[in-house]
Amino acid sequence: MSDKSNCLFCKIASGEIPSEKVYSDDRVFAFRDINPEAPVHILLVPREHIPSLAHMSKGNEELAAHMLYCVRKIATDEGLNGGGYRVVTNVGSNGGQTVNHLHFHILGGRALTWPPG
Ligand code: AMP
Ligand code: ZN
Repeated sequence: MSDKSNCLFCKIASGEIPSEKVYSDDRVFAFRDINPEAPVHILLVPREHIPSLAHMSKGNEELAAHMLYCVRKIATDEGLNGGGYRVVTNVGSNGGQTVNHLHFHILGGRALTWPPG
């Protein structure tokens, strides 16, 4: 599953597998989650295949910062700033990660409960 040649989110980012695109640039791609847990549920992924946050290296520092800035831009464009929103990245089996390509969930449009399960 962490093999990039057979990675779902690599294929979505490259356009090989269709998705509902929200934002795209040379480093990242964002699309709507196929099984939304909130009225707004967007996934933001790097174009580079990085299996999870745990696999980011010193060389990914700028990418990490860019991704956070993109989260903010997407949330603003989706009208989430007033009501607020949540940003989540699941890491590994205890984190509940099911797709082994780094992604930030952007969830909003309803009051979210805490703590998560
Ligand atoms: P995670 O469980 O944190 O690894 O999140 C993976 C997310 O990918 C889940 O919320 C899924 O609903 C979502 N997902 C799986 N396949 C697709 C797809 N083809 N298009 C959009 N979202 C997907
Ligand atoms: Zn990938």
